[in-house]
Amino acid sequence: MRKALITGVTGQDGSYLAELLLEKGYKVYGVRRRTSTPNYENVERIKDEIEWISGDLSDLSSLIEAVNRSQADEVYNLAAQSFVEASWPQPLFTGNATAIGVTNMLEAVRIAKPDARFYQASSSEMFGKVVETPQRETTPFYPRSPYGVAKVYGHWITVNYRESFNMFACSGILFNHESPRRGLEFVTRKVTNAVARIKLGLQKELRMGNLDSKRDWGFAGDYVKAMWLMLQQEQPDDYVISTGEMHTVRELLEIAFSYVGLNYEDYVVIDPKFFRPAEVDLLLGDCSKAKQKLGWEQDVSFVNLIHMMVDADMERNKGEMKYSESVLVV
Ligand code: NDP
Ligand code: GDP
Repeated sequence: MRKALITGVTGQDGSYLAELLLEKGYKVYGVRRRTSTPNYENVERIKDEIEWISGDLSDLSSLIEAVNRSQADEVYNLAAQSFVEASWPQPLFTGNATAIGVTNMLEAVRIAKPDARFYQASSSEMFGKVVETPQRETTPFYPRSPYGVAKVYGHWITVNYRESFNMFACSGILFNHESPRRGLEFVTRKVTNAVARIKLGLQKELRMGNLDSKRDWGFAGDYVKAMWLMLQQEQPDDYVISTGEMHTVRELLEIAFSYVGLNYEDYVVIDPKFFRPAEVDLLLGDCSKAKQKLGWEQDVSFVNLIHMMVDADMERNKGEMKYSESVLVV
């Protein structure tokens, strides 16, 4: 039985990846950090199938213990402070988790299981103020946030450990990917949740930032398949994963609101609070290398993704309404 260790397993990608690996017959070990309120929402269905190990990316000995105990064949480092906006008010925490945390994980693997295959969750945010379009593996980086800078460090230290210690270490440069499990602060989920709440009469307006910014948005369930594929190759390498399609935040609003018969212009209020100190204006990926070498393809289109997220948020908000009504009756 193959064994995999996942950091960030309670997050969006970690939960989809754990499901994929369990379906493939892996034994899955999940690193979870101590939080004052446990957060198992994304892994509720598979919680008992995961072997949990307590650890934190800032705590090297806990990571060595995790790799040692699991003796994993594959290690997926998905944990990070992953929200760009939060990286300006918390640049040092972001650097500790998202940059130095990668070295901690690589060190843990080098010390406890040097032949394990390692996946690093790199990001299209490394391209930032893009120097060419579309962006591919060879495009130079120009990060625009403390998060982007931290991810560049994580990317290069992964390449460096591959070259220095001959480790099977891969970096997946993933463009934005979303799902009903995306954090509520990210723009897609913020919009689909607001659409559901406005439709249900729970919210009156939606306050937004830059509607002109453009992203290459895919479905997280499709993207975790690419992570796994990278670790099944003969040689370790780095790959861009993207849809090759770009949409503005405004188009996202149009698609989400019109799906429930509403016009976004009647509800959206521009709020300077949501503009960033430095913006990434556009991201568009060229994933031809992944298509050719990994045979990877996306299944879910942008429109279907947004519809899926609105449907899920409608169901969740209806469920919460029923719950609060029943509490009121009691
Ligand atoms: P999430 O924010 O949903 O999940 C992040 C996970 O990291 C959570 O499980 C969180 O735990 C955990 N975590 C955070 N800090 C630490 C720490 N110090 N020690 C241990 N665990 C920690 O992110 P996603 O699933 O969306 O993304 C996965 C990875 O992919 C991240 O590295 C992200 O930066 C990267 N990425 C994501 C993209 C996207 O579009 N989603 C695009 C490109 C890269 P807890 O539940 O306790 O908070
Ligand atoms: P990012 O690409 O990792 O920063 O993902 P986000 O989903 O956080 O943001 C995507 C884009 O949407 C960025 O260019 C944001 O500036 C833009 N955006 C516009 N309004 C908002 C908002 O209210 N919240 C968020 N999170 N992003 C917004």
